[in-house]
Amino acid sequence: MTSPEVAPWNACLNTPLQEDDTEIYDLIQKEKYRQFSGLELIASENFTSLAVMEANGSPLTNKYSEGLPGARYYGGNEYIDQIENLCRKRALNAFHLNPAEWGVNVQSYSGSTANFSALTALLQPHDRLMGLDLPSGGHLTHGWQTSKKKISSSSIYFESMPYQVNLETGIIDYDQLEKTASIYRPKLIICGASAYPRDWDYVMLRKIADKHGAFLLADIAHISGLVASKEANNPFELCDVVTTTTHKTLRGPRAGLIFFRKKNDLEDRVNNAVFPSCQGGPHNNTIAAIAVCLKQVATPEFQQYSKQVRLNAQALSKALIERGYQIVTGGTDNHLILWDLRSLKLTGSKVEKICDMVNITVNKNSIRGDVNMVSPGGIRLGTPALTSRSFKEEDFVKVAELLHRAVQIALKVQEKAGSKMMKDFMMACQDMEEISILNKEVEKFATKFPMPGFDTNNLTSVETE
Ligand SMILES: *Cc1c(COP(=O)(O)O)cnc(C)c1O
Repeated sequence: MTSPEVAPWNACLNTPLQEDDTEIYDLIQKEKYRQFSGLELIASENFTSLAVMEANGSPLTNKYSEGLPGARYYGGNEYIDQIENLCRKRALNAFHLNPAEWGVNVQSYSGSTANFSALTALLQPHDRLMGLDLPSGGHLTHGWQTSKKKISSSSIYFESMPYQVNLETGIIDYDQLEKTASIYRPKLIICGASAYPRDWDYVMLRKIADKHGAFLLADIAHISGLVASKEANNPFELCDVVTTTTHKTLRGPRAGLIFFRKKNDLEDRVNNAVFPSCQGGPHNNTIAAIAVCLKQVATPEFQQYSKQVRLNAQALSKALIERGYQIVTGGTDNHLILWDLRSLKLTGSKVEKICDMVNITVNKNSIRGDVNMVSPGGIRLGTPALTSRSFKEEDFVKVAELLHRAVQIALKVQEKAGSKMMKDFMMACQDMEEISILNKEVEKFATKFPMPGFDTNNLTSVETE
């Protein structure tokens, strides 16, 4: 007997991407070279491992498995159940949690959906929550709204009141939070941030939450790698629920985790909120990839990595301060720094633009006291990605020098532009020799370092024109 022929309508199903779709293949190759040849300083990004990407790109993507291990709505889940159980076990282990006290749901598609599921679990519609204000470094999903518009679903379906950082110090104003909470009487206080360089006072936060019988939720999306490595204060001691992304300092695939205390039926509330309230079928390929990541997180090597992430952030901060620049709060406890550019009369947008042109990837960020959200006064820099490329302190001193040169160029361009308008600025960038010189130097420097997860040998520079 010969084996059945592939039906004509299935002819493409075993063709490699390179042959099947050259357009997408070429764009992926270009993106790989961009990642390899640039300096990735976006604080929320990282370079995940080959093993994580293998699991993420596996045939597990084919399977439906709504429900939890042992209680699915579909058949054929004997291996999927084992994968999800392993992932849950590794998640508790990576964060040093006792399975009698803590459980975890590993099905959230990403950080924002994890947060919305957590709010759905903890609150009724229109219940009150308090989170760190977006311009103070908080995240959209912590209740963000403007005076004109409710922006995040966390402010559309719930009532939200922000707390802020102190305008002078840049440190969270816990006194203001305490006072506002005593009037607002929230049902939930969210701590956690996307652009806050210091650690959290969980004791204080728990005290304030307890006064109002409120839940305390820590969203450790940015710092979860540091928390797992004990390079940051431990939110699990005092919080009821902890959410995180898995693709930032944790260095896994893009996804979210929700940890809950096994008390007050939180377990059922969280699991039911994720499915069926907010999501459908879990992404099993991603769950396997999270499991792979969490196995790595529990190693001594990952602890070394996390330590180095912090040392590198301190080195970068110090090197910029030595060049006379202003760093919010004067430094950092974690993986990121906020660079205040306002005294230079430059906006974050302009420095971001110049950095983009020379292949240094950063993002503009509002600085406390900014009046204009559209043109924020600073940029945010993080060290997790380049630390995954084996950068050490002295390499970050070089990074600071390259950033300094980008700022000098931005100042020169702004003067040449003769106005503060972005379109004049962009015009004035044209045929600035310094930009192409710096770009070449960044490329030469960055391509010396190893690249996690993929082979760089057959990648070629695409920006040759
Ligand atoms: C990144 C981030 C999120 C959202 O994660 P996504 O995966 O982008 O949806 C949530 N909370 C905080 C604090 C974050 O920094």
